[in-house]
Amino acid sequence: MPEIHHTDLLVVGAGPAGYTAAIYAARASLKPILVTGMQPGGQLTITTDVENYPGFATPVQGPWLMEQMRAQAEHVGTRLIYDLIVQADLKKGPGPDGYFRLVGDSGDEFRARTVVIATGAQARWLGLESEKRLQRGGVSACATCDGFFYRGKTVAVIGGGNTAVEEALYLTHHADKVHLIHRRDSLRAERILQERLFSNPKIEVHWNKAVEEVLGSGEPEVVCGIALKDTQTGAPSKLDVDGVFVAIGHTPNTGPFLHEVACDSDGYILTESGGTETSVKGVFAAGDIQDRIFRQAVTAAGTGCMAALEAERYLSGIPAMTKT
Ligand SMILES: Cc1cc2nc3c(=O)[nH]c(=O)nc-3n(C[C@H](O)[C@H](O)[C@H](O)COP(=O)(O)OP(=O)(O)OC[C@H]3O[C@@H](n4cnc5c(N)ncnc54)[C@H](O)[C@@H]3O)c2cc1C
Repeated sequence: MPEIHHTDLLVVGAGPAGYTAAIYAARASLKPILVTGMQPGGQLTITTDVENYPGFATPVQGPWLMEQMRAQAEHVGTRLIYDLIVQADLKKGPGPDGYFRLVGDSGDEFRARTVVIATGAQARWLGLESEKRLQRGGVSACATCDGFFYRGKTVAVIGGGNTAVEEALYLTHHADKVHLIHRRDSLRAERILQERLFSNPKIEVHWNKAVEEVLGSGEPEVVCGIALKDTQTGAPSKLDVDGVFVAIGHTPNTGPFLHEVACDSDGYILTESGGTETSVKGVFAAGDIQDRIFRQAVTAAGTGCMAALEAERYLSGIPAMTKT
């Protein structure tokens, strides 16, 4: 039987942004409900070593870190519900009863006085079985997160847009050699980035090449190379690399919120500069769903905190961003 849940603050998403928003909201006695979606713990559950989240002297495992956040959120009073929001009625504002209405895949209805959308973004992958298999063994979608592990090594970056070029340039601070693999004969990246790329002696661009397979070896299996195919001639080739960075963009998980709050042309939710308010009063967005620049666990957690504090102020009738 579908249920109706009432709350002062509904958090949608169980990544660093959602859990942090829930922790702050629970400690402010807002009795938050957090709906987890299909990936409880969020993106960090598909990685291994996390070395840049403050508070740990040595690397921690992504899934473990997210378990700690979940436990902390529950410990302070968050109610977790394993459901997926499939419908949200936000743009007309709350109903006459003061509640926004959202619906879960289970049929449950969520009535919330404020909503924090923290649904994250998914890195786009090539779609290869070998790429998925080696995600814990040297295939990454985040140079800032994992580049450090490739000091003195050889890596490949796949893509031809701004993200790929930025990732390749960033990786030259760590790796000895960076191969940029692009399936066309020109890059989409901005000219200034291209100039920096072409003048960097550590970077070699491989034009008209598509990745056929990520190659692994050893036990546990780690990346040892990539199999390529020339997109013009079909000729196969192989490169020995220690890591592969897929940089073909991200897709924000805007889903049911796309036409309910203002979004940019790629579907990222627009928030007030310096805050987390969306175009709808009482609805806030935190984490990667509103951040196409930094995309880090700590920045997601930071904006989760901001969203809960702003929601609390909204419920108390204090205008957002007012200095107290
Ligand atoms: C392979 C990899 C390695 C990374 N390594 C690091 C690292 O070392 N350090 C670092 O700081 N960052 C790292 N990152 C980036 C970091 O994981 C993200 O910046 C961070 O997880 C974003 O947090 P978030 O809470 O915004 O969203 P996410 O972590 O993406 O979580 C989104 C949540 O929303 C839920 N959701 C989505 N749609 C719905 C819906 N309709 N209804 C309900 N719930 C929904 C999902 O189930 C999920 O729980 C890495 C990312 C990847 C992919």
